[in-house]
Amino acid sequence: MPNLKHNDYASATLALHAGYEYEGKRTTSVPLYQSSAYSFESLEQAANRFSLKEIGYTYSRMANPTIDVLAKRLAAIEGGAMSAVVASGSAAIFYAVLNLAECGDNILYANKIYGGTQTLFVHTLKRLGISCKSFDLDDLGTLEEAIDEKTKLIFFESLSNPQIAIADIEKIAQIAKKHNIISICDNTVATAFLHKPFKFGVDVSVYSLTKYINGQGSTLGGVIIERKGLNEVLINNPRYTQFNTPNEAYHGLVYADLNLPLFCSRILLEWLRNTGASLSPFNAWQLLQGLETLDLRIQKHSQNALKIAQFLQAHPLVEEVNYPALKTSPYHKLLQKYFKNNQASGLLSFEAKSFEAAQRICNELKLFSLVVNIGDSKSLIIHPFSTTHSQLSEEELKAAGITPKTLRLSIGLEDANDLIADLKQAIEKED
Ligand code: PLP
Repeated sequence: MPNLKHNDYASATLALHAGYEYEGKRTTSVPLYQSSAYSFESLEQAANRFSLKEIGYTYSRMANPTIDVLAKRLAAIEGGAMSAVVASGSAAIFYAVLNLAECGDNILYANKIYGGTQTLFVHTLKRLGISCKSFDLDDLGTLEEAIDEKTKLIFFESLSNPQIAIADIEKIAQIAKKHNIISICDNTVATAFLHKPFKFGVDVSVYSLTKYINGQGSTLGGVIIERKGLNEVLINNPRYTQFNTPNEAYHGLVYADLNLPLFCSRILLEWLRNTGASLSPFNAWQLLQGLETLDLRIQKHSQNALKIAQFLQAHPLVEEVNYPALKTSPYHKLLQKYFKNNQASGLLSFEAKSFEAAQRICNELKLFSLVVNIGDSKSLIIHPFSTTHSQLSEEELKAAGITPKTLRLSIGLEDANDLIADLKQAIEKED
C-alpha cells in the first residue's frame, strides 16, 4: 500500500497494512526473505554501508526485509518513531537496559513485574555491575526517593504479569521526565490495542511478541519501540554520554550526529550487531500473521476473562480474584483511565483455598493446559510459586504478591461457558 500516512489510520488498519508497500511482485502477503546476507552492487557500496554513509542491508544479524516490515508495523501501531525487533522479549528488555546503563549505574524497577525480568535485573545485571532497586508500584513516592545521579532508567509493566496490577503510567512518566531519565514500559499483556504508553509520556515500550502478537504459542520474539522526539532527551544529556561521545567501533562516530531515532538505531548498530539475539525471518513472518487479527482477538480475550473473573469471584472455594475489569478491583480506576473500552486483556490471577487446592486445580483441569506462557488462543494455567517465580526470595515473593495459593490464568478464545465448566469441576473436586 503506497503513501500510507500512519497518523491517519487506526491500529486495526495499521496491523494489516503498515510497513509493506507491495514491492516486487505485489504480493498481498508480506514476502518471507529467508536470507542471511545481501549482495552489494559494488565494493564502494559495501564500504559505504559498513561506515553508515549509506543505510542498507548487509547481513541479517542487523536487518532483514521481512523483519523490517514487522518492525515498521509495530512502531506504527504503537505510535512510535522506530522499533528494533529481536529474538525474544527477554532479549528486548536486556538490550533496552544495556543501551542506557553500564557498570556502576543503577536502574529502578516496579516491584510487580514478570519473574524472569526480575531475575534478569537482580541476578544477571548485578554480575555486570549494574545495580537494581525496586519501587512500590502502588506508592510512587518510593520511586522518586530512589533516584540518584547514576539512575539510568525506570522500568515497569503497564499491566503486570502475574499480579495483574496496573501502573499509574502517566505519573511514572512525569517523574522520569522531571529527572531527565528514560522510562520503559513493558506493554506485553495490554498490547497497543488496549493501551498506548506514548500517549501518556512514556519514552520506550518493550514487548514479548511471543504472547498476544503471535497468539498461537508457536514463535518467540521481542521488540523495543521508541517514542517520537526521544532524541531530545538523549542528545546532550549528561546521564547518557554513550549517545554523545565518539564510538570507537564506528571510527569515532557520535550517535547524536545521526539523523535517525537514536535509541533503536543504537540497538541495531551496536547490540544486535555485536551480540546477535536476532529474530529469524520466518518467525517475523509468523508474527505478522498473528498481528493481523490481534485487534479482534484481544477483545474476545478480554470478554472471556471478565466472565471467568465474575464466576471465580462468586465461587465460595476461591479466596481472591485479581482482574482490573472487576468493579471491585483496586486497579479499576486506572483501567478506566489508561485502557480502551475498559478492557483488561486475558490475564487474571486468583487465590485458591490452600497450596494443595492450587496444585489440585492445576492437575484436574481438562481444557486449560499447564503451561508457562500467556497470550495463546488456547487457555493456559500456571502456578507461579512453583515455576516462573520459584527463583525469588521470600521477601521478593511477598513484594511481588505471589503466594503458594496464587494461580495465574491466561484466558483463550474458547467458548467462555466451556472454560467456566472446566474450572468449576477442578475447583470443586474433592481431595
Ligand atoms: N515480559 C513479560 C510481561 C512476560 O510475561 C515475558 C514472558 O513471559 C517476557 C517479558 C519475556 O518474554 P520472552 O519469553 O519472549 O523472552
